[in-house]
Amino acid sequence: MNKILFRLWLLALAVFVVDWLIVGLKLLSGNYDITLGAYIALVCVVILALYPLYRAFLDKCPYCGKPLASSGRYCPHCGRELPK
Ligand SMILES: [Zn+2]
Repeated sequence: MNKILFRLWLLALAVFVVDWLIVGLKLLSGNYDITLGAYIALVCVVILALYPLYRAFLDKCPYCGKPLASSGRYCPHCGRELPK
């Protein structure tokens, strides 16, 4: 479930890593104009931080309504099988 969001999160992680590689290379080459890189990194950090929060608070069991921390087949609270 929420595979699109998970892919977005992975994309944000990849962008974040690449962005910092670029920023690092810029700094090493004496270019301190990293404003754009810093903004991109900030956006990525927000996405990276929000996704686990989203998972913790909004991904709920449809039967008992309790938050699901893992994406297992069964709800850890009520034990019912979760729809895909
Ligand atoms: Zn449940």
